[in-house]
Amino acid sequence: MKDEIIRRNAFITGISLLIFFLFSFSFSSYYNLRSMETQLINMSNVVSNQIMETSTDEELNSVVDSFTKNQEWLQITICNSHGNIVKDSENDMIGVTISASISDSELLRANEASTDNDRIYVDQQRIYYIKILSNDIIMRTSTEYSFNTSFLYMNLLVLLILLIIGLFLSIFFSKKTSENIVEIVEKIDSHLKTINEGEYKEIEDSHRYSEVENVLREINEVNKNILKSMQSIRFEHSKIDFVINNMEQGIIIISENEEILLINDYAKEVLNISGKVEENINYHRVLTIDLLLSNIEKAIKKHEDEYFDIVDRVKEKIYATSIDYLKNKWFSDNQEIGLFIVLMTDVTEKRTNDELKAEFISNASHELKSPITSIRGFSELLLAINDNADEKTKKYLNVIYNESIKMKMTIDELLYLSNLEYRRNLEGDKEKVYFKDVISSTVEAYTEQADKEYISIIVNVDENLYIYEQTNLLDHLISNLLSNAIKYNRRGGKVYINVEERDAKIILTVADTGIGIDEKDIDRIFERFYRIDQSHNRRKGGSGIGLNIVKQICNVLEAKLSVESKKDVGTKFIVEFKKNEEIE
Ligand code: ADP
Repeated sequence: MKDEIIRRNAFITGISLLIFFLFSFSFSSYYNLRSMETQLINMSNVVSNQIMETSTDEELNSVVDSFTKNQEWLQITICNSHGNIVKDSENDMIGVTISASISDSELLRANEASTDNDRIYVDQQRIYYIKILSNDIIMRTSTEYSFNTSFLYMNLLVLLILLIIGLFLSIFFSKKTSENIVEIVEKIDSHLKTINEGEYKEIEDSHRYSEVENVLREINEVNKNILKSMQSIRFEHSKIDFVINNMEQGIIIISENEEILLINDYAKEVLNISGKVEENINYHRVLTIDLLLSNIEKAIKKHEDEYFDIVDRVKEKIYATSIDYLKNKWFSDNQEIGLFIVLMTDVTEKRTNDELKAEFISNASHELKSPITSIRGFSELLLAINDNADEKTKKYLNVIYNESIKMKMTIDELLYLSNLEYRRNLEGDKEKVYFKDVISSTVEAYTEQADKEYISIIVNVDENLYIYEQTNLLDHLISNLLSNAIKYNRRGGKVYINVEERDAKIILTVADTGIGIDEKDIDRIFERFYRIDQSHNRRKGGSGIGLNIVKQICNVLEAKLSVESKKDVGTKFIVEFKKNEEIE
């Protein structure tokens, strides 16, 4: 850099001196010409005045000679009105017509000129002055126009000396300046290196140039800001680290391109991973549990959420595990990537409690079932053998009989619900269950009930649609929705059952033209034992378990359940099933 600055400055100095020389040279030559012209004009005026006072040729000759004798540089030419040269100071032009030595354009100039400036002109290295003195006399004076070469040489010499001095000074000062610049640049460079290495100390900011001082102060400001940002980033980082590593949940963040972006201590403990996990390492190189691997693969392939339990038989622990696909993409390295969050929660205690609860419900239901079966059996027997009993006895026996049937149904539903909730007794064989089959048998079972109220059931099902599941789950789901659609309908109303494929999902809708559900109740109808308190409902009877069973079945089938309803217009239940891959 130093050499570059010196070279440039020397070059600029040289060029500046050269320009200065050219300028002064052209200025001097112009000035030289002007002064010669003035001298010629002045002399010509004096000569012309004297010539005008002469009356004979002799007098005229002597005037001309007297001037040219002392002024060798001056040539005077006189011609008469006939155009003949009558006198020429060089003596060799006498008798020649004026047009031979003075051109027409000169004569024209002499005739037209009104000022001395018009009368003077330069032609081929001579300066001429031409003037008509009288009708009979035309005078032309001239001198040789010579450029003063000594002036040029002197100029060149001065230039050379100036050039040498200029170059010397320029090199000297540029060296000094460049040393100063290099010194400050090196100082800044070494300081920036220390910042780069993570050492944030202040740079000495006093300097003789205020501009440099400003730069140094700016560097210190930037330094401070970096330090502040680093501290706040570190603080945020340590906060996040603290929370993530002290969570009572395992968390792993995996990117769409299969890299582990984050894994916390809890997850490492659950998955028996010791040591540090390399950043952005492929998850196949770290995770070993087959169930977890296959679910991550599935989630990444299908871009969907997965739920499953990881059971650690050695530690006797159960971890409820979810893989959530984040809908918003993460922006990293100039590309958008989908992220998957694996969350593992220790549910050992809850599952044990669930087991106990399920056990209890199952035992209690079985305990209740036998007395109720006896009550139903004996009341039926009593009705049969007391055919001639009085009407009141018959009526009460009927009530006992009907209520025992309802109780049995409620107990069966409760048991089924408990199995669904605690995922017990659901290990039956999965098969291809076609919607058209389940719907037609369910509709058949409810036709009598619908006919009683003149309700028509309209079915519109894509015949090819199926799910790979246990038949009884789909059967229970559709039965509960259809029975409600009939139960909470009006006389002569309609029920529409639709199944279609949309956006790679199977959509089942059961809609009715019934009493509808008030907005305030709509969020609560899926709660267990929740029944809308209306006289219509009371009359219809029910236990408030049906829709809770529907909700639990949807959970098991990983289907999305929703409802739309308008009071006094009707209700529509919508179930969205994931479409199974083609199963042959
Ligand atoms: P229930 O045994 O009372 O029918 P459910 O759990 O099946 O219990 O339904 C809960 C409540 O939701 C019902 O009591 C009823 O008020 C309301 N409900 C369910 N389905 C419909 C429907 N299709 N139309 C109007 N209300 C309904």
